Amino acid sequence: MTVGQMLREALSVHSMCPTADIPTRINALLELVRLPADAVDKLPHEFSGGQRQRIGISRALAVEPQVLVADELVSALDVSVQAQVVNLLLDLQEKLKLTVLFVAHDLRLVRHISHRVAVMYLGEVVEVGKTEALFQQPLHPYTQALLRAAPSMDPTDRRRSVSLTGELPSPLSPPSGCRFHTRCPIAVPMCSQQRPVLTCKPSGQLVACHLA
Ligand code: SF4
Repeated sequence: MTVGQMLREALSVHSMCPTADIPTRINALLELVRLPADAVDKLPHEFSGGQRQRIGISRALAVEPQVLVADELVSALDVSVQAQVVNLLLDLQEKLKLTVLFVAHDLRLVRHISHRVAVMYLGEVVEVGKTEALFQQPLHPYTQALLRAAPSMDPTDRRRSVSLTGELPSPLSPPSGCRFHTRCPIAVPMCSQQRPVLTCKPSGQLVACHLA
């Protein structure tokens, strides 16, 4: 399908506008994601990776969502192209007042783009907080290990990375109690029996840990 056909499909299946207005709406969507108007007649293979991600974003925006789930949106792109797509996403968030759920493994990117961060381990959220508070003072042992393991750009940074030991358990058969107890460096006996729930701490962060 051409870009125009893909956008037309989204607009007509969801009855987003009268049929006569579809071409105008397609042009507006392409403009929104900074693609040229002649993209409408082209096929996906005629675009670069970053442009293809923008086509995907335009199709998602065609249905005028309030929430956009961006799952590993830029992980397959070069760093320079990642920056373009991320900056576009930030502009769109501001312009359209969108809530974006940005799912990623790149911590620097997460810090750059997010207002709030949720850290997941084995399919469960273990910590939630405002971005800077969470990066400055992580409270959950898994978040702490995750941040220590991230490469530092500061050559004077001599912190030792504390690597987690043990295999990642299967999410199909997760450990009892706290799912992190088989790898947690500060686990105590109750951790394998009682499942911690997310609890609000004085800093405002929500943490699921008996000892946090
Ligand atoms: S509940 Fe126990 S095992 Fe889980 S993160 Fe906290 S200290 Fe570690």
